[in-house]
Amino acid sequence: MDTLSQELFDEISKIPCVNSHSHISPEIDRIAEAPDALAFFKHAYPASDLVSAGMTNEQMKTALEPGLPLAERWTIFEPYFRFTRLTGYSQCIIEGFRDLLGFSDLTAETVEPISDALREHSKPGFYHEVLQRRSNIALTVINMEDLIEVDRTLFLPLPRLNRFSMLHSADQVQAIEKDYDVSITNLAEHVEVIRQVCRDWKRATVAGVKMSQSYHRCMDFTARQKEDAARVFDGLMRGEYAGLESEEGVLLEDYLVFECCRAASDADLTIQFHQGIRAGNYGSMEGCTPAPLTELFQAFREARFDLSHAGYPYLREGAVLGKTFSNVYLNMSWIHIISPIGSRLDLREWFQMVPYNKIIAFGDDLQHVEAVYGHLKMARQNFAIALAEMIREGLVSESLVLDVAQAAFHDNPAKVYGVSD
Ligand SMILES: [Zn+2]
Repeated sequence: MDTLSQELFDEISKIPCVNSHSHISPEIDRIAEAPDALAFFKHAYPASDLVSAGMTNEQMKTALEPGLPLAERWTIFEPYFRFTRLTGYSQCIIEGFRDLLGFSDLTAETVEPISDALREHSKPGFYHEVLQRRSNIALTVINMEDLIEVDRTLFLPLPRLNRFSMLHSADQVQAIEKDYDVSITNLAEHVEVIRQVCRDWKRATVAGVKMSQSYHRCMDFTARQKEDAARVFDGLMRGEYAGLESEEGVLLEDYLVFECCRAASDADLTIQFHQGIRAGNYGSMEGCTPAPLTELFQAFREARFDLSHAGYPYLREGAVLGKTFSNVYLNMSWIHIISPIGSRLDLREWFQMVPYNKIIAFGDDLQHVEAVYGHLKMARQNFAIALAEMIREGLVSESLVLDVAQAAFHDNPAKVYGVSD
């Protein structure tokens, strides 16, 4: 970074970040897990790069899981890591090791000492040290299925409505009846349960609700007749249902996604959609594009829709939605490490395209706090470099760009998730 970008980076780092999307496990579980340096690459993102580079499942298991001595595991890991070490997924891990543990790189020589240092620093209270003191994260939104309690000094829960909206069988409805202590015999009762769950979650102070439809379908939800959806639901309860991917499954899901949005909106809960590429390997790209969501966005103008991953790689398409729909927010979670430069270039365009109260700068979408630290550093660098370019072009003053960063890293996500501090 040049001097101006570095200056901005230092200022941006002083802004407490509201982290919009995470999968960090409870500290007690992380301490018990005691990952070594190579175990960090078992996470779905760096692992997918290693698979893409040619690593087999067998090699993955031997290299990344405990068993053989670290030096031997390294010899299996290195021939693939040499090709993935430049990717954002690897870089965020290395950044974390560098700044938090003091090792400039992950190599044959450092893999053992980094692993020792990881064990050494993973002590009770180290989440506060890494997330609050070193990363300057005010609060982290945690993805989960049903609502479970979290350490509220660090985290804010974001439960999913997936199990209510993606129905596979009557067993699934029975499991909901059991878990939520309710009775569901028809579609209207099922919808009433969704509405009650949203009200309960609102009272329990959650960040919003999450839905992940784009992992299995195109996001082209359309309004359906209640009677048609009720007929499909009745069939499902009788065991006569062709499944979620069938024509009737799509119809029922369309109806339920509309009802989930209505319930969340009525309960004043933000609706976060996974919107962009799918994790893992060999995934379909169906569902990445956010454009088909317009009917839903038009139907619920009072709702808050948070596009998590902003439609990556269709960021410009997402930006048109952020620009023209007052109820749509562009959430940059995950994408600073999917493509560090791609995110920065799009951000540069967004600044002159989208009102900046619609941009949410950061969500780690990771599990290990060291990698979260590295990812946030990369996001702050992206903002610093993109904003410095605007100053150099004479488009804005330094004080205004800090307002932009303050909004994107803190004020916007705080408002969208109801965080007060
Ligand atoms: Zn995620």
